[in-house]
Amino acid sequence: MAEERSLNFLEEIVEEDIRRGKHDGRVLTRFPPEPNGYLHIGHAKSICLNFGLAIKYGGKTNLRFDDTNPVTESVEYVDSIKKDIQWLGFTWDKELYTSDYFEILYEYATTLIKKELAYVDDSTAEEIAAAKGTPTEPGRPTPFRSRSVAENLRLFAEMKDGKYPDGSKVLRAKIDLANPNMHLRDPLLYRIKHAHHHRTGDVWCIYPMYDFAHGQSDSIEKITHSICTLEFVPHRALYDWLIENIGIFPSKQYEFARLNMTYTVMSKRRLLELVNNKHVDGWDDPRMPTISALRRRGYTPASIRNFAERVGIAKRENVIDVGLLEFCVREDLNKTAWRRMAVLDPIKLVITNYPEDKTEWLSSENNPEATDGEGSREIPFSRELWIERDDFMEDAPKKFFRLAPGLSVRLKSSYIVTCTDFLKDDSGIVTEVHCNYIPGTKSGEDNSGMHVKGTIHWVSVPHAETAEVRLYDRLFNVENPAAADGDFKDTLNPESLTILDKVYIEPDLKNAEPGKGYQFMRIGYFTLDTHSAPEKLIFNRTVGLRDTWAKEAKKA
Ligand code: ATP
Ligand code: MG
Repeated sequence: MAEERSLNFLEEIVEEDIRRGKHDGRVLTRFPPEPNGYLHIGHAKSICLNFGLAIKYGGKTNLRFDDTNPVTESVEYVDSIKKDIQWLGFTWDKELYTSDYFEILYEYATTLIKKELAYVDDSTAEEIAAAKGTPTEPGRPTPFRSRSVAENLRLFAEMKDGKYPDGSKVLRAKIDLANPNMHLRDPLLYRIKHAHHHRTGDVWCIYPMYDFAHGQSDSIEKITHSICTLEFVPHRALYDWLIENIGIFPSKQYEFARLNMTYTVMSKRRLLELVNNKHVDGWDDPRMPTISALRRRGYTPASIRNFAERVGIAKRENVIDVGLLEFCVREDLNKTAWRRMAVLDPIKLVITNYPEDKTEWLSSENNPEATDGEGSREIPFSRELWIERDDFMEDAPKKFFRLAPGLSVRLKSSYIVTCTDFLKDDSGIVTEVHCNYIPGTKSGEDNSGMHVKGTIHWVSVPHAETAEVRLYDRLFNVENPAAADGDFKDTLNPESLTILDKVYIEPDLKNAEPGKGYQFMRIGYFTLDTHSAPEKLIFNRTVGLRDTWAKEAKKA
C-alpha cells in the first residue's frame, strides 16, 4: 500500500535486533508448512508476513516442510504448497525438510539423555496423561522417570531400530512435573510409528514431536525470527529450554494472532473433510478459502498481498470480515480487468428502424481505469441484441433509468435507443422489447446534444457466443461455522453455487486468456475456469461489482 503506516510489533522487534547488532543484523525467517493439505488464506497471511519481513530488512526466508507426521503427508501437498507460494510472488532461499534433520535430531535427543534430561517412558498415553496432574495440581513421576542414562540410551536406540510396537514407548524430556506450564511437565519428544514416510521411506520408525523438531530445525538453519501463531505462546518456554539445554543456535519464537475470516473454516482438517465428503469439487473449488481456490476463482496475487497488509499483525485473536478480501480483489481488478459485455439473463431487443442485414463494428476501450486504456476492441452491433431482462420494465417507477415504453438509454459504446413497445407470451412474460435507435448518437461521434441517464450493456444476437457462468456465494450460512453447535457441515450454504449454462458473451471473449480478469460490465469480475475449453467456455465470477452482501445485511 502506498500510505505510510507505523511499524507493527514484529518490525519493531526486528529493528531493535538490527540496532543492537544481534546476529550481525542478519534476518532469516522461515515458512514451515506441514504438507498435510493445501494452503489457505491464513497461510497466505503467514507467508506475506515471513517473506515480507525478510524483504523489508534485507534478509531471506526458508521454505521448510515440517514433515514429521508420515501418515497425513504427501508429495501432492508439497507441490501445491510450492506452487502457491510462487504464485503469491515470493521466492524462498532454501527448500528444506524437517525429515532431512532426523539424524541430527536423534543426536540431539541422545545429548539430552546423556545430560539426564530425557528418558524413555513405557507408560501408556492414558497413564502419562493421568500422571501429568492439572494446572493447579502437580504431576507425579511414572516408574520410568528414574531410569539410568545407560538404560535410556539402549532403549532409545532399540526404539529407533524397530524393536518395539507403536505406542509402547516414548521419549520424554525430564524437566519439571510441578511446573505451572503443562508443556514443561516432561513433554514427549519422540513416539514410535511404523509408517512409511513420503521422503525417508521406511528408514525411521520413531518420529520427533512438533516441539522437539520445530525449534531445533530453526536452530539448525540459524533462523533469527521464528514467527508462529498465538496458540504456541505456552510452548515458548519449552522452545527455549530445548535450545538452551542442547546448546545450539539461539533462534527465538514470536507469536501473532492467526487470521480468522467470516463465513469459512480455516483448518486443513475441516477443509479435507469437505473435499473427502464431496461437498466441494476438490481443494481448489472456487468456494474454498485455499490459495488454489482463490486463484481458480480469479483472485490476483496482488489482491491477496494487499489483504494481508491491510489485516495487519495482531496480538489478539480476531475475525476478519470476508468483505475485506472481496474489497481488495475488486480494487485490484478495477485497475487491471478488461471490460467486456455479457448478458446473463437475456431478453431480445429489436431495433426496428435499423437495417436487417447491417453490422457495424464499434470500438470500445479495454480498460478505462488504466492510464493508457490498454487499447480497445471492436464489437459487432446489429438490429437484434440481447439485453438483461431486468433492464426492461413494463411499468417503470420514477427513477428507473433503463428501458420502459417511452424511455431512452444509451447502449454501451453505441447509440441511444428509445423503447417503443414490447411483446408478451400467453403467460404474460415479456419476450421481446422494441426500440428505435437515434442516428447521430453513436458514442464518440455524438453531437446530438441528447442526454440520457442510463447506459446498458448488450450483445449482438447473430454474433453472440455462449458460455457457462458459475456464480459463487458464501460456502457457509453462518459467520463462524467452526463454532456452530453440532457438525460444522450442517451450516453449509446449499445455494453457494449457481450455474448459468447459457450466457451470451461478446465474440471477443472467445479469446479470453486463462488467469486474466475480465469485468463483465455492470455485473462483476470473471475469469476462465481451469476446466474451460474452447468448445465449452466456462467463466467463474470472482466477485460482484458492489458489495451486495452489505446491502442485504442492512435490509434485514
Ligand atoms: P491448520 O490448522 O489450518 O491445519 P496449521 O497451523 O496446522 O494450520 P501449518 O502447515 O502447520 O498449518 O502452518 C504453516 C504456518 O502457517 C505456521 O507457521 C502457522 O502458524 C501458519 N498459519 C496456519 N494457519 C494460519 C492462520 N489462520 N493465520 C496465520 N497463520 C497461519
Ligand atoms: Mg500444524
